[in-house]
Amino acid sequence: MSARNILVINCGSSSIKFALVNEALPDFALSGLAERLGSAEAQVHWQQGGSQQSLLLPGADHRAALAQVLPLVQAAAGGELHGIGHRVVHGGEHFTAACRLDDASLNAIRATAPLAPLHNPANLLGIEAAIKLFPSLTQVAVFDTAFHQTLPEHAYRYALPEHLYREHGVRRYGFHGTSHRFVSQRAAEMAGLSFGDSSWLVAHLGNGCSTCAIEAGQSRDTSMGLTPLEGVVMGTRSGDVDPNLHSHLARTLGWSLEQIETLLNKDSGLLGLSGLSNDMRSLEQAREQGHAGATLAIEVFCYRLAKSLAAMSCALTRLDGLIFTGGIGENSPLIRSKTVAHLKLLNLALDPAANARTIRGVAGPIQAYGHPRVMVVPTNEERQIALDTLALLEA
Ligand code: ADP
Repeated sequence: MSARNILVINCGSSSIKFALVNEALPDFALSGLAERLGSAEAQVHWQQGGSQQSLLLPGADHRAALAQVLPLVQAAAGGELHGIGHRVVHGGEHFTAACRLDDASLNAIRATAPLAPLHNPANLLGIEAAIKLFPSLTQVAVFDTAFHQTLPEHAYRYALPEHLYREHGVRRYGFHGTSHRFVSQRAAEMAGLSFGDSSWLVAHLGNGCSTCAIEAGQSRDTSMGLTPLEGVVMGTRSGDVDPNLHSHLARTLGWSLEQIETLLNKDSGLLGLSGLSNDMRSLEQAREQGHAGATLAIEVFCYRLAKSLAAMSCALTRLDGLIFTGGIGENSPLIRSKTVAHLKLLNLALDPAANARTIRGVAGPIQAYGHPRVMVVPTNEERQIALDTLALLEA
């Protein structure tokens, strides 16, 4: 059988990210982004074999944009597309692994929408459009939450009255599961360890950031909770704050719930602390020039990240390595070294030269000689979604 092609789709409320993954090739045959869907400025950009192209699609919705992308995908796949993998943010407690899309699974995804009102309805738009356009193709949903369904109850329950959990699903779910799983499997391979008999701490540091403790191939704890706001400092999200902040702001400043939600999700994190940017590259440059806000944002980011990793270590019985991934984790020697400097009690230390050269897609160990393993492992959520889709094609 020739190597198979899977189209991976990640749908937002006004965007579709897509990638064509061939199981035998390291790079995507085609990848792109349709954005501003539903507006007069709707457009699609794509890359194929080193060349980049764009097309305006005024007024296009998700289905119209996918219909436009379809011939490109078919041509890039040589007419042989084997399946479609969809990223779905929230699978609630129903989904503990990827699943084939059929009426029953679609209804279960619809039923989890109250847990992820911003994300799941957008993911469903893409799924429904793709099913209409490719009715005979196997389509699969891969959930950000599924990998964390192995958390023990003492890690996933909040200290809240039982009925909020039993009747309303208020518990910790965790996100970025596809990335945590992909990089910890890769790290085990690279270290010559069996995934099922190894123990990892992971720092996924992109625009959203989370930490995870993985043992015996299973997620044992993670920093995000009911929603992707809990945990470490992120680009524009605050991460953990005192839960009484809501009532404090409402009482003292008269803020509405919507204002507080916007504050914590869009105006906080690196952006809020620095007063400058949510982008770590810009903050590192500003710090070099002595910008006080950027300097503080980086210090808080690294300290809180280290604190979260130390907390995650409670879920492990040993440590085979700390893994850095995501745009910041893969590219910032500064953030890695500042974070690890706070983790001396875990005996972690970096080799400065290895840390400096392990950037821009390079993977490898960066720890100092004689210290526990610290690895940089580029994430590839699209490939993991394609692998999960292929596994279900074979099932
Ligand atoms: P997303 O979560 O949207 O997929 P990414 O994983 O691409 O995001 O990560 C984006 C973050 O990575 C941004 O804060 C960006 O500044 C940061 N980043 C990318 N390259 C570098 C770099 N060379 N140095 C520091 N930060 C970087």
